[in-house]
Amino acid sequence: MKGLIFSIKRYSIYDGPGIRVTVFMKGCPLSCWWCHNPEGISPEQEELTEVYKIGDKEFVKKRMAGQYYTTEDILKVLEKERVFIERSGGGITFSGGEPFMQPEFLAEALRECRKSGYHTAIDTSGYFQSEILKQVLPHTNLFLFDIKHLDPVKHLEYTGVSNIMILQNLSKIIKSGNDIMLRIPILPGINDDVVHLNALRDYISGLNSGSIKMINLLPYHRIGSSKYRKLGRDDRMKSFNPPSSERMKELKKFFSSTGIKVKIGG
Ligand code: SF4
Repeated sequence: MKGLIFSIKRYSIYDGPGIRVTVFMKGCPLSCWWCHNPEGISPEQEELTEVYKIGDKEFVKKRMAGQYYTTEDILKVLEKERVFIERSGGGITFSGGEPFMQPEFLAEALRECRKSGYHTAIDTSGYFQSEILKQVLPHTNLFLFDIKHLDPVKHLEYTGVSNIMILQNLSKIIKSGNDIMLRIPILPGINDDVVHLNALRDYISGLNSGSIKMINLLPYHRIGSSKYRKLGRDDRMKSFNPPSSERMKELKKFFSSTGIKVKIGG
């Protein structure tokens, strides 16, 4: 079986514990305003035209986003990094895009990675048909699960989908007992007002689950904006500013009252 992948990152340290290999899978049903991986949203291979400016001169570069890999190809990448992965307590993380968009490949790859002794994680938006979970739960050590906004209307406005299925899937994973790291992007002007933050803290406290091992607060940053510029696409976040480090420290303290360990960054 083959999966469509737009990047494989070695020595990744922000996508779960230890040193990891992160596999970025093509296709995402969301279209978040702040997405840093716009080349991961289409579920198809696509030729991207990137425009670079140096001084007054423009350079055009074409590249293909998305290559097909088999599970064996991924295992070969992992084998080359096995020493670093094992010594650091790392593993493999399937990210994207949304990995659940390629459910059969995801399930097979997770199963084979577990068989070969690797710690496995899925970095997910949470937006997927819950039937798929049965296939992956037994082969997944950790879910990196995003909560972007609790208000379904705001969620729809900024991501293109409602959050109802996402929160239902979170409950299902909690019930399964698999480990979870909640990832909250901090997006000034979108989800960081006091009403929403209080609601979010109460919601997380109410989950009352030992499965949630950590809350990762991910400050919005502008790294993605150069990609939008290069691809000639509209950057809907251009008037939004990243949160200050002081603000992030405040929020770390704020969410620590849930009793869950909080970290700034992945
Ligand atoms: S869920 Fe992630 S990959 Fe999908 S559009 Fe949002 S930020 Fe991008």
